[in-house]
Amino acid sequence: MVVSKSDLIKFFNSIQSEYEVYVPHKTEREVDDLVFKKFDPEKDFVLDKYRTVDPVRALFYMPSETVLPPSAKSKKRIIAGVKNCDLMGLAVLDDALLKDNFVEPNYKIWRENSYIISCDCTGALPTCHCILLDNNPYPVEKEGEVLYDINLSPVDDKYIITIGSKKGEELAEKLKEVCTLSSVTDNDKEIREANRAEVLKKVRDINADFTPDRNYDVITENKEAATWKELCNECVQCGACTNICPTCYCLILNDESTNEEFKKVRSWDSCQLVGYAEVAGGGTPREHKWETFRNRYQCKHNFMKFNFDKLGCTGCGRCISACPAEIDLREVIQSLQEV
Ligand code: SF4
Ligand code: SF4
Ligand code: SF4
Repeated sequence: MVVSKSDLIKFFNSIQSEYEVYVPHKTEREVDDLVFKKFDPEKDFVLDKYRTVDPVRALFYMPSETVLPPSAKSKKRIIAGVKNCDLMGLAVLDDALLKDNFVEPNYKIWRENSYIISCDCTGALPTCHCILLDNNPYPVEKEGEVLYDINLSPVDDKYIITIGSKKGEELAEKLKEVCTLSSVTDNDKEIREANRAEVLKKVRDINADFTPDRNYDVITENKEAATWKELCNECVQCGACTNICPTCYCLILNDESTNEEFKKVRSWDSCQLVGYAEVAGGGTPREHKWETFRNRYQCKHNFMKFNFDKLGCTGCGRCISACPAEIDLREVIQSLQEV
């Protein structure tokens, strides 16, 4: 099926009483930056291009939320324009926050009530490096796993719709009530493949200096290497790289009480902050700055791989853009491989 952008706007407008709709918008501050905002028929939005400044995680795992009792609202949400690097991030969070014995109640509610409409990237930022992690700048089915409910592939001023789940089928039925959908032609498919090849080349060119198919075992194998001490020199331990990452979920749980109620509040924490994991008496598992710095790389590439059989880095490049010390994760890993 194919839908025009004007029909999509009509669709988003028509369902607002039932769903909250979030779409990427340009910011007033920086023309290149995109941020998720609630759909407003008066404001233009950008479904394609590249990732937003904040990861989609921020709509599912808020900086601070009451988890007992869970504070997540139950209204249904459509989040459109999600990029593949953020879909991969949600897949990691699903493993961490919904499985086994630990279920984060708010995340579960947000996830169940949200419909994800992803979109192929049509551009890339200088920090984008999904291809180095064997990911694509557009979602594809991997080992039978589809991470979107609906995916949109831009073709001129229209989008090819690919349905990925039961929720996607549900949305498509609603789309049909409001929009005029046409069939996908061979020409549409050819344009989609050409667009995908072009953006893939763009991301490859951006990362021409870096080696794909990396051996991430070196991060732990070289864990005592003097290199770490050099690499962490410029780090000011601000935690920006973890706060902006689509797969970070470290938390701190506080008890709060008033005369009326008792509640538990979960807030983001960061392994990069001084005092993280410190225990009473001042004991800490990572005494030196270089150990703290190294932990993020180990967590993303070794620990998460071990725990979830997935890398915890999706190649979105946000930590590189956010770092005030201009530390580039790609360079850090490459230099370790050269030790
Ligand atoms: S990292 Fe890849 S998927 Fe993510 S925005 Fe950049 S090009 Fe798109
Ligand atoms: S480690 Fe950096 S590049 Fe990798 S997913 Fe997190 S923010 Fe993105
Ligand atoms: S953003 Fe940069 S300076 Fe801040 S903690 Fe991360 S690596 Fe260190």
